[in-house]
Amino acid sequence: MKLRVAVIVVAAGRGTRFSSDGDRQPKQYRDLVGRPVVSRTLDAFLSHPGIADVLAVIHPDDTALYDQAVAAIDPVGRNKLRQAVFGGNTRQESVRNGLLALKNGNIHQVLIHDAARPFVSHAVIDNVLEKLAEGQCAVLPAVPVFDTLKRLGEVTHRLETVDRTGLWAAQTPQGFDYPTVLEGHEKAYQAGRTDFTDDTAIAEWQGVAVSLAEGDPDNFKITSRSDLDRAKKRISMTDRYNSGLAELGDVRMGTGYDVHAFEDGDAVILGGIQIAHDKRLKGHSDADVVLHAITDAILGAIGDGDIGAHFPPSDPAWKGASSDRFLADAVRRVADRGGRLAHLDVTIVCEAPKIGPHREAMRQSIAGICELPVSRVSVKATTSERLGFTGRREGIAALAGATVRLPFNDEDCT
Ligand code: MG
Repeated sequence: MKLRVAVIVVAAGRGTRFSSDGDRQPKQYRDLVGRPVVSRTLDAFLSHPGIADVLAVIHPDDTALYDQAVAAIDPVGRNKLRQAVFGGNTRQESVRNGLLALKNGNIHQVLIHDAARPFVSHAVIDNVLEKLAEGQCAVLPAVPVFDTLKRLGEVTHRLETVDRTGLWAAQTPQGFDYPTVLEGHEKAYQAGRTDFTDDTAIAEWQGVAVSLAEGDPDNFKITSRSDLDRAKKRISMTDRYNSGLAELGDVRMGTGYDVHAFEDGDAVILGGIQIAHDKRLKGHSDADVVLHAITDAILGAIGDGDIGAHFPPSDPAWKGASSDRFLADAVRRVADRGGRLAHLDVTIVCEAPKIGPHREAMRQSIAGICELPVSRVSVKATTSERLGFTGRREGIAALAGATVRLPFNDEDCT
């Protein structure tokens, strides 16, 4: 029989540690690169195939914020999302309300998760589910403590070092056999205990053995402004890239072309990657014909001259220069106009060396220089059927296209 797994996402907290900046919005509804934190948390579970139901417990004052968060989740998993229930005065009460709301849902196992941990991975969820499948009744994902810990003596006011052997930092989702965790919460409620800060603490109090599962250092909880800054940095480049793109409606396209001749040598540099070859490319800089063509394509899209105008070959400063700085400069010029590079496409024309084996490394390299997702960089290659200078193996040519998105600017129309 397949066991039905539900998830309770605890989102009823008020986030008082954030309130020092005057904005009292709870941390789970803070903007995390275009989406509320909790919408990312919900998506992590809604997209997991082993999970049947996802239930959020929210504060009654937050219904409008929660509705906005739900509007931002991926529609694919939305049918698993149950009607949110209201929390209580403590985290423990909120979890109990969630557990009670699942009573008639034919639930066998439940995961209980903090809304402010948006980076829970499917791997961590799997680690917890595996332990439950082995028959454990309470599972805690955790990471070993690596930092040296100090305790300030209450009486002595002196610092002492805490032995960290066997110490673990607790995370969520904590996983439970549903009847067991419901019983634990009911017992705690009847005993008047409301001070448990997590659910495995109730299991310990209940006398249920808690088993450890491997957590993930990236599955951190957003409790402070610096955590939120860390979370923003961690959002994938693709996500960051897509955010706000729709407002840049002035779409422009530029082209670039470059040629460098071969001379004696043992390697060429193409797209920032060194490729072993029986010749090298001749040039004032590192002669990276690919990056030069792309640089000109970008400059073309914003109508800002060409690579030779900004970095004259006559200037000794650029002798032997690594061409990534030319490209980065063109990208900066786009950013200075409030715009963003949208896509690059380059074609390399040569008989040798073979480009195919280096294509992915080149895409990664170019994407890295331009701070673009790799999916927005295309590298293609062709021979010229032994015709012309490339056909005679005298050099390499590169053609590039760049799409740039800029904000509409009235001054441009005068
Ligand atoms: Mg050149």
